[in-house]
Amino acid sequence: MAKDICAICGETPGLLKSVTIVIGKTTQVVCSDCAKEVQGMGEAALCRHALSRCYAKSRDKIQARLDFITAAEEARPKCMRCNTPLKFSAKVTLDASPMRDSIFSSTFDLIPAHCPSCFKMELFSPEMLQQSELMLCLYTQDT
Ligand SMILES: [Zn+2]
Ligand SMILES: [Zn+2]
Repeated sequence: MAKDICAICGETPGLLKSVTIVIGKTTQVVCSDCAKEVQGMGEAALCRHALSRCYAKSRDKIQARLDFITAAEEARPKCMRCNTPLKFSAKVTLDASPMRDSIFSSTFDLIPAHCPSCFKMELFSPEMLQQSELMLCLYTQDT
């Protein structure tokens, strides 16, 4: 492997200490210390963190990804009651077949989103999210 420098701190990690991570859809080599430091960081925060220093490769790609995430956040659906941005939860599958006499005889998927402020909940269809790259991005960030 070529002598990569850590995308965060710029040090040259030894072969045993180098870790490959994904920052804003780009593959980066970081030292194990920095890998630990950024673990659990949200994607946007991680992009910003990497861009605040000058060591990451493909900085334009990271910036483009960060711009995309920012655009998605701006397009985030808001609570109809209090205007707080909604947060998506993982898709749930409802089984309507136990309901006798129901016209639904099969299962259908729903994506719940809740308001972190007043806890009102809204439901979205997976198709609706599939149609919008921005919504899909938000869903991936949240779940
Ligand atoms: Zn490092
Ligand atoms: Zn609300």
